[in-house]
Amino acid sequence: MLADKQLSERIPCYCALCVSRCGSMAVIENGRFVALEPNPSHPTGKALCAKGRAAPELVYHRDRLRYPLKRTRPKGAADPGWQRISWDEALDLTAARLRGIAKAHGPESVVFSVVSPSTSASDDSVVWIQRLMNAFASPNLCASMELCGWGRYLATTYTFGASVPGVYMPDLENAGCIPFWGCNPNLARLTHATATVEALKRGAHLIVVDPRRTGVAKKADVWLRVRPGADGALALGIAHVMITRGWYDREFIRDWTNGPLLVRTDNGHLLTESEIAENGSAKKYVAWSEALAALDFYVHTDLFMNPTAELADVVLPAASCFEREALKVGFEVSPDAQSLVQLRQRVVEPRGEARSDAEIVFDLASRLGLGAHFWNGDIEAAYRYQLGPSGVSLEMLRGQPGGVRVSQQTRYRKFVEQVNGAPDRRRAWYPPRRLGER
Ligand code: SF4
Repeated sequence: MLADKQLSERIPCYCALCVSRCGSMAVIENGRFVALEPNPSHPTGKALCAKGRAAPELVYHRDRLRYPLKRTRPKGAADPGWQRISWDEALDLTAARLRGIAKAHGPESVVFSVVSPSTSASDDSVVWIQRLMNAFASPNLCASMELCGWGRYLATTYTFGASVPGVYMPDLENAGCIPFWGCNPNLARLTHATATVEALKRGAHLIVVDPRRTGVAKKADVWLRVRPGADGALALGIAHVMITRGWYDREFIRDWTNGPLLVRTDNGHLLTESEIAENGSAKKYVAWSEALAALDFYVHTDLFMNPTAELADVVLPAASCFEREALKVGFEVSPDAQSLVQLRQRVVEPRGEARSDAEIVFDLASRLGLGAHFWNGDIEAAYRYQLGPSGVSLEMLRGQPGGVRVSQQTRYRKFVEQVNGAPDRRRAWYPPRRLGER
């Protein structure tokens, strides 16, 4: 029994693989990460989805990128001729090319791009990537987002002035009617699902559009069981009612639908692939393309090689969220969850030479001569800066890997607050928030 105990360890952490950030326990046996389990004592830890439970598969996948790579053949070649290089060579090359491009064309000719924190672990480092962009003096942030994210992020931003969820959760505690369309939070955002169940117990109504009666659909007042692929017909039917009754925003429809699609100037029709390419499809519309192969220089950081990374000049291997430390200030889903600060521990060593995104950013910043903006490459000093106003120290967080509670005051109707007699419009995507600044 003693031997078993010595070989097995359970480390409090949280899954960072999507916006839910579910509190969890990493099970380590003989130094190997073998399982991720729920941690019910954590405010977001009542359950884990299949993706979270499969975390060890992600960490140990045979196709993980393990070393920095450099292209040796031209873009467009069938084989990029990837060559393994050292981190020093990769980051020196990247810094030199970025400096050269900025000198020749200005820093605004450089674009920084991040994946969505909603469906990835980029939340650990997105504030540092944006800080690097600001320090470099580039105004260009290219943020990709999953399909569901655009709807819930931008539709709610334009409607309410803030994203839901992400920066804020929907007000499920007070909702009277909750519609889910193609959304199964039981699989993708468990904290959202458990909050919905609580709302239903209170008497809220639930409408679910889903072909399957799974998850929250079982509890719905109205379950609209569309045939797979027939959501469009239902949406068109609802849109028809809205149009005939005038229940829509005319200017929004004009300005915000089909925006990126190109329009022929001769007949006003949407341009299709068949009109610009031999054997092109008449059913495919043409949109402006954000043309990676034409870039002067492209560096890509990722867990795996993929079609986008294959267009890069340099590919850097990223550590998974279970192979790196990260600071999380608040877990969003409720005031109680928001009061928790957690320093997620590294539960296993990174594969190969993979590094955390934060390490890459801080190192690259120093090579770009921007170290002063990044605590001269000291990530812990950056964490201490973020924690400064709270009185919480890194030592406290390391001593309590399950997290430390910090009392915070929830403010409502912040939009009526004024600065110098005018509405307070200070707002930014993913600011490097410090405790006490909400
Ligand atoms: S919902 Fe799943 S993927 Fe997202 S944080 Fe929770 S366990 Fe991880």
